[in-house]
Amino acid sequence: MNEIRKAMRDKKRIVVKIGSSSLQHAQTGDLDYIRLDVLVRELCNIKNQGKDVVLVTSGAIAQGRKAVHMTAAQMQENPVAVKQACAAVGQARLMMTYQKIFAEYNQVAAQILMTRHTVDDDNNRQNAQNTFEELFKMGVIPIVNENDTVATHEIGIGDNDTLSAVVASMIGADLLILLSDIDGLYTDDPHSNPEAVFVEVVKRLDDSLMRMGKGSTGSQVGTGGMSTKLGAAKIATAGGADMIIANSADIRILHRIMDGRNYGTLFLADPDTGFDLSAFLAKMHEGKES
Ligand code: GLU
Repeated sequence: MNEIRKAMRDKKRIVVKIGSSSLQHAQTGDLDYIRLDVLVRELCNIKNQGKDVVLVTSGAIAQGRKAVHMTAAQMQENPVAVKQACAAVGQARLMMTYQKIFAEYNQVAAQILMTRHTVDDDNNRQNAQNTFEELFKMGVIPIVNENDTVATHEIGIGDNDTLSAVVASMIGADLLILLSDIDGLYTDDPHSNPEAVFVEVVKRLDDSLMRMGKGSTGSQVGTGGMSTKLGAAKIATAGGADMIIANSADIRILHRIMDGRNYGTLFLADPDTGFDLSAFLAKMHEGKES
């Protein structure tokens, strides 16, 4: 087993991100309870090894939309208010389901909803950090999402890949795992270029690598593409965490990764105390507008 991967066994504080498309049935958009159950069981098993675990989950908007029988066309009519209303319904539903499954494995889960203020505002950030620390001391598993009901574009983090990296850096996590619908990073889009080569380890995220990301994973739900994931890698690694992009097709990949096996693309921590997270997020936002 390679030494870099073996080091995953010693990680102490792990953030796991999962997206809406990995949590629902493609045919209906309804929650896939078997996958949710496997996810929660995997997280609880990491927790039972004495590690701190955080779950960053989306699905609020998607589940809210299902609950109030909103069609895609209706969502389009008034995207912001309708999405936010759907998120208000869906976030509560999502948490109810998570709480229930975590309880089955004897764990207590908590909800933390963040916006960009949580990063930009010193007080807000400090409060959030204190809350996370207290939750870890209590042995609770925080479940994080963006506060979609109030986060307008201006104060939004925008996508949960970025959010999970922000969380990892804020709480001093040593590993972030992004569960995605792709195996990891390729030198080009593997769907369109058969020559694309899989990248196993990224030691340093330079500009040429940042350009490797393409705009979309092809997924219809969720908001993260490869370029967003590379942005997340920048935030997480500068904050001192390793980051792994791994395929969520089999969620049991989580314990295989934690066991040091070679799955996904590993971005090695590259701590940068001068890294300005607020400025980086502001720049990412500008990029999305243009
Ligand atoms: N926060 C959004 C939700 O829960 C999803 C954002 C994302 O998937 O990146 O629905």
